[in-house]
Amino acid sequence: MEISILGSAGSEAPGQNSPAFLIDDCLLLDGGTVGLALDRIARCSITHVLLTHAHLDHFKGIPFLLDNLVAMNPACNLQLMSGREVISDIRKHIFNNRIWPDFTLIPSPQSPILSYRTISTRTPEAIGDYRIVASKVNHTVPAYGYLVEHVSGTSLVYTGDTGPTEAIWEKMRGHDVKALIVEVSFPNELISIALATGHLCPSLLEAELHKMPKIPEKIFISHLKAPFRAKIEAELAHIPHVSLELLEEGKSFRIP
Ligand SMILES: [Zn+2]
Ligand SMILES: [Zn+2]
Repeated sequence: MEISILGSAGSEAPGQNSPAFLIDDCLLLDGGTVGLALDRIARCSITHVLLTHAHLDHFKGIPFLLDNLVAMNPACNLQLMSGREVISDIRKHIFNNRIWPDFTLIPSPQSPILSYRTISTRTPEAIGDYRIVASKVNHTVPAYGYLVEHVSGTSLVYTGDTGPTEAIWEKMRGHDVKALIVEVSFPNELISIALATGHLCPSLLEAELHKMPKIPEKIFISHLKAPFRAKIEAELAHIPHVSLELLEEGKSFRIP
């Protein structure tokens, strides 16, 4: 699997865009940044979006992606996948023909550019060469983390936004998790804000590492709030026995 980093910040600032990770040019994990980071061909190859939650920073690229797709390739269909509450919020509050068009009717109700697919934490979902295992995570709104397993047997785990959590680590058991993308939003001095807002700081991440059945070979950090980036990076360097890497936008990494 090749994972391209379209955006990975926890806010927006020059050179720091909202989270979106593109797997093998076809499967998008969150859609905070899409149009700014992709050319026309890549946009047309996206067939599925796995959305962690309905917060704007994880979603705001999708309305414009659909707008572009209708103009460029109206025959394609983008499947937006998430848990029941997330899909419900997106239908009701975004694609409601008031904030943005209802793309499940465009260009026609018979062959729309957008369809929804609700996923459950009980049953894995198949998408082509991938199997998706969803877990509830601990955020201020309904939110899901995902294990994406390739047919070759290797897996990637993406937490999305979460505070201290359990289920997603348990779901790693029995999978060959080569890489984890986990959020760290605040520095340690703001631990109370991190806990109140459903996020992690470096000391909370260290505690999460102890809950994992096996520490993945690669751990990538995302969702840093821009003003605290240097401080968080320095504090992460003090966590022993693991190598943590900050994701760089515009780059990609490959897992075997
Ligand atoms: Zn959020
Ligand atoms: Zn966020």
